[in-house]
Order: sequence, then structure tokens, then C-alpha cells
Amino acid sequence: MNQHHIEVKVCAKTFAENIRQIRDRVSPAKICVVMKANAYGHGLKVLAPHAIKAGADYIGICTNPEAATLRNLGLEIKLMRLRMGFPDEFEESLNGLNIEEQVGSIEAAEYLSREGCKRGKKVPVHLNIDTGMGRSGFFSNEVDAIAKVCNLPGLEIVGIMTHFATADSEELDFTRKQIKEFYRLRDTLKNNLPPSVLTHTHNSAATVRLTPHCNSLVRVGAACYGVRTSRNFANFSPLKPVMSVKTKVAQVRNVPPGRTIGYGKLFTTQRQSRIASLPVGFGEGYPRSLFNKGVVLIRGHRCPVVGRVSLNITTVDITDIPEEVTWGDEAVLVGCQGNEEITFEELADRFESVHTEINLMAGFMNQVSYR
Ligand code: PLP
Repeated sequence: MNQHHIEVKVCAKTFAENIRQIRDRVSPAKICVVMKANAYGHGLKVLAPHAIKAGADYIGICTNPEAATLRNLGLEIKLMRLRMGFPDEFEESLNGLNIEEQVGSIEAAEYLSREGCKRGKKVPVHLNIDTGMGRSGFFSNEVDAIAKVCNLPGLEIVGIMTHFATADSEELDFTRKQIKEFYRLRDTLKNNLPPSVLTHTHNSAATVRLTPHCNSLVRVGAACYGVRTSRNFANFSPLKPVMSVKTKVAQVRNVPPGRTIGYGKLFTTQRQSRIASLPVGFGEGYPRSLFNKGVVLIRGHRCPVVGRVSLNITTVDITDIPEEVTWGDEAVLVGCQGNEEITFEELADRFESVHTEINLMAGFMNQVSYR
């Protein structure tokens, strides 16, 4: 454990195995492993070679420094930028980072086309079509504008894509509507697109819950890290969590009834209690909003977080644990102990967020160790 007495472990083998499982599921479609935001907090530099070995065809990134990290490792894999880029980013990309850009406006398309013509080399791009996500891209009824982009002399259209807004939700009607709209547009543009164009719509939830349809590539992030972004894809059992987070009990105290615990006096003991304090809080990425909602494993038992999570201290009620709990005992924040497991999904549900937020916080704020 590090000096904060928190251990964030990432298992590269499990990550690679998850990718292989997804590959088998979608084959012959290609796979873009989404590794932006430092591989969702798991560590881009360490995991990228494993993604490639497991069969990633693309790595999805956002920033040039992410791309530079991969190029500096000597990795020649295709990279796709999963947001709209800027001219300064394009410049670096064209000068060696070789990132395939999303294009969602005439302005950006014409800019890149001019650069391609200037350099005598077509710039590979993916057309970004907004079928309902509402963040960026061409609206799917802007057929003339998209056709114009397809015919720009300095561009090579290597992909056409859309992104789903609700593939995690129980109800898949909206996702199906997005798929229909996307393929209607793709068919309309048939004569403008090269036959080899990659069509890609599916994120993790869609990949796990739906057939790949006509996708010739899927873009999966969460699933590779073994995280189910919603209960609705619990049926895909091969996925295993890649990250676990542990700490140690810093103190155990017997607390009489009627005492309040922590900032804001948000919890009052109702009985003679045993309260353990842990040396982690939102300073280490454990969400502050888990007060009175979180759960921690100690000696194989689920123990509720009581009171406000502080910057570096969290308190848990261990009164119901039959065994003796002592200073230095292992406490699992995310992962397995005995027969019990706490997943990132469970924690995310408890504080009404998404797993990635906790993955990220844990990964960014602590030193990750790999196995
Ligand atoms: N595609 C795009 C455009 C994204 O922005 C993301 C993630 O943010 C993904 C794919 C991967 O999503 P997921 O982690 O749900 O697989």
C-alpha cells in the first residue's frame, strides 16, 4: 500500500481478457478500445500495449498528449479522436501523431481538406452524425452538407459514426430510433461513401445488449474495464472488473448511543456501537456524497458508511461484525473480500453517478499498482 494506505490495483490480464471476450462477440466487426481520460483512470501507458495484444484495431483518445504517450511508446495502432478537434491539434496530428479526426461541421472539414491538399496526402476522417445525442456533429437531415464533405478533395472518409444517448436505459426504443436514422442516412449517402467505410454506432452498453447490426467497428470503453454501465447488461457474464480499491482500518472505537459522527452531525448512534475510521475520503477519490449511503467490506462483512465522508477520513459502523476488528485490518472499498463483493456499479448507484467517476477519481488521485 502507498503512503495514503490506499491500494488501487489494476489487473492488465483481466483487461485483456475482457477485450478478447468483446472481440469474440462482435467479430468480424473491428474494435476501438476507448482509453481516453487515462484509460478511464486505469492508466493509459500501462494498459495500451495489452489492448493491442488483445486485438484492439483502434484506440479511442481525446487529447494530443494521450496520442503522444502512445506514439512515444512506439505504438503504431490507429487512433481515433472521440471529440471535435481544434486547428492546433490537427497540426500536431498531421505532423506525426496520426489521429483520425471526427468531422462534424463544414468548417472543420474544409480546414482539414485544405491541409490535406497542401500536404498532398488525404486526411483520414470519420463523419460524426448526430442522431439524438445532441452534443456535436452533423444533424442527420443535413444530407447536402454531408455529401459535400464526402467530396472534398483533401479528405479520405474512413468512417461514419453516431453516439447513443440512452443505450444504458432499460428502454431501448430511442437507441433503435437512432440506429434506424443512422442507417437511413448511410444508405442515402451510399454513392458518396467509399465501400470500405467503417460504420460505427455502438458503445459498451449497445455492444453488450444488441447485436452489432451493420457496425463494422464498435467503440467500447466501460466494458473493457469490466464495468457494466447499467444493470441492463448484467447478462454478459464474461466481463470481470479490472480495478479494485482497498485500505486499512485506522482506528476502532466503542461509541455510546446518542453520539454524532462527523461533519454536520449527520449520523447519530442509536445503540452502543463500534465505529471504525478509514484513512480515505474524497481526497483519495472516495465520493463525498456516499455519506450514510456507502458500504465497505471488513472481515468479509458489508459495513455501512456512517456520517459525512471527509477529505481524508471515512467512518463505518462495524457493530454487527461478530469477529474482532483491529487496527490495520483490510477494508475493501471496491472489490472482493470473503464471499462479498462491492462493484463500481454498486457504488455509482448508491451516489447516483456513473462508475467512471469513481474509477477516474481512484485512478487519478492515487498511485495505481499493476498485476
Ligand atoms: N464513443 C464515444 C464517442 C464516446 O464518447 C465514448 C465514451 O465516452 C465511447 C464511445 C465509449 O463509451 P462506453 O464507455 O460506454 O463504452
